[in-house]
Amino acid sequence: MREKDYSPPFDSTVTSKLKSVGAISMGKANCDQFAQGSSNETSCYGPALNPWNTDFVPGGTSGGSAAATAADECIFANGTDTGGSIRQPASLCGCVGIKPSYGRVSRYGVMAMTSSLDTMGVCTKTVEDAAIYLGTVAGKDDFDATTSETDVPDYTKALTGDVKGMTFGLPKEYFIDGMDGEVETSIREAAKILEGLGATIKEISLPHTKYAVATYYIICPSEVSSNMARYDGIRYGHTEEANDLIEYYFNVRSAGFGDEVKRRIMIGTYALSAGYYDAYYRQAQKVRTLVKDDFAKAFEEVDALLTPTSPYPAFKTGEKMDDPVQMYLADVFTVPASLAGICGLNVTCGFTKSKLPIGLQILGPQWGEEVIFKAGDAFEKAVGLNDKPKL
Ligand code: GLN
Repeated sequence: MREKDYSPPFDSTVTSKLKSVGAISMGKANCDQFAQGSSNETSCYGPALNPWNTDFVPGGTSGGSAAATAADECIFANGTDTGGSIRQPASLCGCVGIKPSYGRVSRYGVMAMTSSLDTMGVCTKTVEDAAIYLGTVAGKDDFDATTSETDVPDYTKALTGDVKGMTFGLPKEYFIDGMDGEVETSIREAAKILEGLGATIKEISLPHTKYAVATYYIICPSEVSSNMARYDGIRYGHTEEANDLIEYYFNVRSAGFGDEVKRRIMIGTYALSAGYYDAYYRQAQKVRTLVKDDFAKAFEEVDALLTPTSPYPAFKTGEKMDDPVQMYLADVFTVPASLAGICGLNVTCGFTKSKLPIGLQILGPQWGEEVIFKAGDAFEKAVGLNDKPKL
């Protein structure tokens, strides 16, 4: 297909900023089609594989970025995180992944998926690299009205290794029945390590967490159905032969979109339709506010939250592809922060007996990237990067 060789006609703001400090691009990374998926299996290029064990998925959607970083093919790789697509693959591949606060990094030049959630971030090998990257790309951009004037601090100054006096919350809703035992043990041990460094650990509650996946999977498809409308084969996207305009639209959109994208266009169109808007979309927006308020209350008591990034380590390629709901549940711990617009960092906190990485998610308030970098860096220094099993 021609669009597989697509070469962007202009640089995104992030690309321009990276080039301006001398970054060299090694190539494009694999991604689920239009950033929709949790395993990289919806990619039209075929799935990326997990470098720790190629029978397993790297996670998604920025699975190519996480796999390339973990496999030492690059120093860092850009990604987008709408509902977890940097944090979750970083967790499954054993690298660092930062989802900045909504509005922290320009999306100019980045294809829109869910405009009220999309963020631009990175997979790196160390927290320090993630802090350097964010300091380079963050900030107000006249080409993206959602970017904030909020100052961009020197994030590397937060990397003192010192978390004395900080308080971390363990939200009880993130330790649920059915989650992997090795993941739970590893996250609780990570909390103990931070406690050992002088931090206070406190159990807290985010009561609306259980509604977050359902809320996300109304809001995301609704915005997807709108954002995908531009791919009509005339202004954007795939082209096909046809005898008339209507046939042209049918052919272009049937051939150009994969099953997952079509599923979301249908769900979103339904949820936004006149008869169902109040029952689904409006309700979802109200619940989104409740999820956001949960976090706001939590951050009155704690500096950051410690949770698993994913309820389980990497799963096998093909395992969840026939069951979209199971696939959506992979995002159970990442979508709440996305709905709230807050920032999140994945750092590797352990490995399963079968040598698959386990990721700790550190969540901070909006514009609180310094706090999560500080915690992630202290943790990384305490556990020692060199103790990792080798690929
Ligand atoms: N897995 C989520 C989804 O499919 C997240 C996607 C993303 O962050 N781009 O919607």
